[in-house]
Amino acid sequence: MILRGHHLLCMLGFKGLGYDSDFIKNMDTIIKKLKDDDDVLIKLVDNVDNICEKCPNNITGVCENEHHEDSIKEMDDTVLNILQIKPETYMKYNDILDKIKLLMTEEAMDDICCNCAWKGYGYCVDGLKNLR
Ligand code: SF4
Ligand code: SF4
Repeated sequence: MILRGHHLLCMLGFKGLGYDSDFIKNMDTIIKKLKDDDDVLIKLVDNVDNICEKCPNNITGVCENEHHEDSIKEMDDTVLNILQIKPETYMKYNDILDKIKLLMTEEAMDDICCNCAWKGYGYCVDGLKNLR
């Protein structure tokens, strides 16, 4: 499975919100798969991933929010940097979760997610709290 850095955080508090029904269904399937088997090997990236696969903002394999200031890629790089993981690294999902528990903070998420429409719900930061 391929996951971009900031999606590690988005998955923590997913409550069925998303861009459209295909996106939501795909995200739900990925999260359930990881819950059933957290030994799954993940390739961590800072570009499109298996969640982006079904996103309406993914035009020809590139996120339309990818290349501007405060871009999605910067969010990925910030998350991976905090977790001390280089892009293109392969890790088991349960080892990634251990790193999130140890290294990610609510303050860092507050900053990383500052431009996200779903931040106001507080679901994702609650997901981080529930992980601990
Ligand atoms: S607030 Fe947005 S970017 Fe941040 S983890 Fe949640 S869905 Fe992802
Ligand atoms: S908005 Fe961009 S990064 Fe987010 S899921 Fe869609 S294509 Fe991927």
